[in-house]
Amino acid sequence: MLSIRAALSRASVPRAFSRPLSTAVKPIAIAFDIDGVLKHGEHVLPEAHRAIQMLEGKNPWNRRVPYIFVTNGGGQSEDVRAQRLSKDLGVTVDPRQVVLSHTVMQSLVGSYGDKPVLMLGGPDLPPGSSRAVLEGYGFKHVYTAHDLHAYAPPSWPYADPKPEQEAALRRVDFSQVNFAAILVFHDSREWGRDIQLAVDILRSRDGIFGTVLTNEELKQRPPIPVFFSHADLLWGNEHNVARLGQRAFRIALEAVFNRVTDNAPFEAITFGKPENVTYEYAAGLLKNFAGSDPTVWMIGDNPASDIHGANDYGWSSALVRTGVFRDVEGPPAHKPTFIADNVEQAISEILKREWS
Ligand SMILES: [Mg+2]
Repeated sequence: MLSIRAALSRASVPRAFSRPLSTAVKPIAIAFDIDGVLKHGEHVLPEAHRAIQMLEGKNPWNRRVPYIFVTNGGGQSEDVRAQRLSKDLGVTVDPRQVVLSHTVMQSLVGSYGDKPVLMLGGPDLPPGSSRAVLEGYGFKHVYTAHDLHAYAPPSWPYADPKPEQEAALRRVDFSQVNFAAILVFHDSREWGRDIQLAVDILRSRDGIFGTVLTNEELKQRPPIPVFFSHADLLWGNEHNVARLGQRAFRIALEAVFNRVTDNAPFEAITFGKPENVTYEYAAGLLKNFAGSDPTVWMIGDNPASDIHGANDYGWSSALVRTGVFRDVEGPPAHKPTFIADNVEQAISEILKREWS
């Protein structure tokens, strides 16, 4: 556990690529949540354009304000997401302004970059695209559930390996591979298979697929860690009722593992909001962009993730009424600095509070 924490604290951040036009006023910086703040699903909120323009310098002080995007979304590279945001918002968004749920997994490269890791979750199509994101971070030996299933089809006998994955498979002798960690890159697309394969690796001898330790032996050795990219229990899409998120997958995996192993140690670390490690990473980015230690404001629609994390990390925050939070449900469980009708009003209020 200690070594992982130490690795995280050494997380490197890119150097400044933009600076405020002037340092004459108190430096501030903004961290935006995306969905429910700037967008509703595919729809970009009209206030979002005006809010971004204010940060680009169209404000009474003619000052530019550095900003980044911090989302529990993911499953694609920061480059792809930045291109999408550029199109949505009508400004050039640099990939280094984008913190996806799994972006902070880059901080694990020092510990696991040269070791085999099992990646679970993330989009299956195009084949190999999820693995490519982790490889882009610097992980050199990333294997997937598809690789293991194709290597040993009876390991998940209730479905056949998927033919469309064939071209992207890594065909290696898994009896020679020592998995050092499991990375849940994004939400699992096939819980049953992924829980089975994760439990297999967690119970294995030295991380070798197809081997198994006794429960007594498992309790004697350090557990193989599992890293989750975010901890949302529920999330919303076009369906009428909220869908199960990655936290639900973790609960299921942990429960099965505990039952099968009679409570052998289970070591898990979660990234994403509201985890401190994500805010620490984001704060590092904003410090570089601002050129000094700015006062950071988080703008979000979800008290349980955006505001909770901001409060824990000591940031100010604005909760907007355009997403998850609704006044009719009572005061937010995590209290923001103030509540605004939308993101434009939030930015305008922040500039007034900080600079007037
Ligand atoms: Mg949101």
